[in-house]
Amino acid sequence: MTTYICKYSPVELLQAFGWEAVMPNEEVGDFAEADAWIHSSVCSHAKQLLSLLACPREDGADQGESPSQACGIGCKGRQCVVLTNCCDSIRRVFDTLRPEMEKRNTAFVMLDLPHNNSESSAEWYARQLMKLLDSFRPLWDRDRFLFLWHRTVQRWMEYKERKNGFAQLAILGARVGDQLKEKLESGFSMPMVDLTCGGCRTLSFFPEDAQTLTEEELLLEYARALLGQLPCTRMEDTGPRDALLSELESQGLKGIIYHTVRFCDYYSFEYTQIVNRLKVPVLKLESDYTIPGRGQLSTRLGAFAESLSDRNTSLTGQEKGRDTGGNMSGCLYYIGIDSGSTTTNAAAVDGQGNILASRTVRTGARAADAAQGCLEEICDRIEEKTGKRPEASQFRVMATGYGRSYLPFANGQKTEISCHALGARSLYARVRTVIDIGGQDSKVICLDENGHVSNFVMNDKCAAGTGRFLEMMAHTLQMDMDQLGSYGHKWNKDLTISSVCTVFAESEVVSLIAENHALDDIIHALNKAVATKTASMVRRAGGEAPFMMTGGVARNKGLVKELERCLGEPLYIDDMPDMAGAIGAALFAKELTEE
Ligand code: SF4
Ligand code: SF4
Repeated sequence: MTTYICKYSPVELLQAFGWEAVMPNEEVGDFAEADAWIHSSVCSHAKQLLSLLACPREDGADQGESPSQACGIGCKGRQCVVLTNCCDSIRRVFDTLRPEMEKRNTAFVMLDLPHNNSESSAEWYARQLMKLLDSFRPLWDRDRFLFLWHRTVQRWMEYKERKNGFAQLAILGARVGDQLKEKLESGFSMPMVDLTCGGCRTLSFFPEDAQTLTEEELLLEYARALLGQLPCTRMEDTGPRDALLSELESQGLKGIIYHTVRFCDYYSFEYTQIVNRLKVPVLKLESDYTIPGRGQLSTRLGAFAESLSDRNTSLTGQEKGRDTGGNMSGCLYYIGIDSGSTTTNAAAVDGQGNILASRTVRTGARAADAAQGCLEEICDRIEEKTGKRPEASQFRVMATGYGRSYLPFANGQKTEISCHALGARSLYARVRTVIDIGGQDSKVICLDENGHVSNFVMNDKCAAGTGRFLEMMAHTLQMDMDQLGSYGHKWNKDLTISSVCTVFAESEVVSLIAENHALDDIIHALNKAVATKTASMVRRAGGEAPFMMTGGVARNKGLVKELERCLGEPLYIDDMPDMAGAIGAALFAKELTEE
């Protein structure tokens, strides 16, 4: 068993020693292991690598310790780990772990990867490959090496020639963890090409006279093939990479998922360049190689799939409006249920899209129960208006929000990104940017001139700067959200709260209270902190005026004022700001029925 970390690694050479070559793509539970080895500010890729490599061996060779976590990269019987010095972080991983690897009797190799594929670089790399070969010469099987190299070349050529069904979705950037990859594959039903650091290896030649070459000549050719792959973003000349992307675009590429790593700036440069150069939609997905959370990730992927769907691309049934069948001719009402983490909102529209009723309840412990209660109350309202309670066959329900997958009675589900966009546009036709501060997340959704979602940004995994953050601060100040919204307008002293992390901000608020600052001043500082974070999300998304703010937080006048100041533009606030998602879902229910 051998472990390698990127496509420039000599995989075929390692396999020719009789080892299985494995990329450490398993996500870790946390970085407790890594933090014990290295400074916590190092990138998540390096930490994940450390966590997995530092994991004690299952065969008891590590002083009889038991494994601290399940390790899928073969701690048991791992003979060799080959790193490529992509950047300083990997160098630090190598320096940190070297003594430990020596103790474990694991060969630990760092290949010095050149930055280009010039002849001298190939010679330099070939010499390192020869050293590697010499270290394990008794295991070396030259015929197997030639077979594997030839097979890799063939696979890439076959892939390139498969014009029909050539990739509609490309994944670029850093290598993707197993669970994230699984989610990507199950979230999109279109042909996909993985061009990340850990994706398909693009070795494009095999020497015809390979059998007759000396070992030195053979390894030089192999080094040329390795370095001649589709260049990664670290290489000096990325021309061939740019050309392949342009080729894919001209062949019908529908979208790109760009994977970046937390605490790494490397990939962001290429991301920005791609967004500026190509016309296809790009979703930036940052991960930290821990087990991906379900809610936000599925919303991001689902919303991206839906935005591609707007452009006539196929997507899987998971996020596509699903219809449970039945005769729809008697359908009179279309109900959208936005099952959020804090509240559940429902809205009903008629066949013309007019809003008939709306209702909000607390979500509580069970999303399905809250949604069912909301649905019943909507039916009550319709009954009050029409004198007749609608039967199940007379309405269609579309679910959205975090709880959308858990409402068994819904006829379909859409992400809150699509629903907020449609709902907001139905309330304010001119809107180009929707800002929604929800209970657990904040989102900025950009719309093109046709009302399609052109880009969106969501806050990170934590609740910093969201409605939950404000709730916690209100709790600290011993008031409710309505009271919080009524302060902060008449401030005198311009205080600053430097963090929107709930824990840090709470201690700052406590200090300000202790210092006897006026409530208006403290709450103004909180509003300013949330507004600044939200405005930076707007800039990141490329949001343009006219702006609209949705979600219950839009009722907080102090915050709205601060956000308007940060954006330098007015915000449109509807009378029912928290209903945008539910209204959008109801309108999608209507569309689903009409399809
Ligand atoms: S950026 Fe290049 S060198 Fe670094 S891991 Fe990715 S493929 Fe390897
Ligand atoms: S390129 Fe970025 S993600 Fe990869 S090891 Fe270096 S700092 Fe970490």
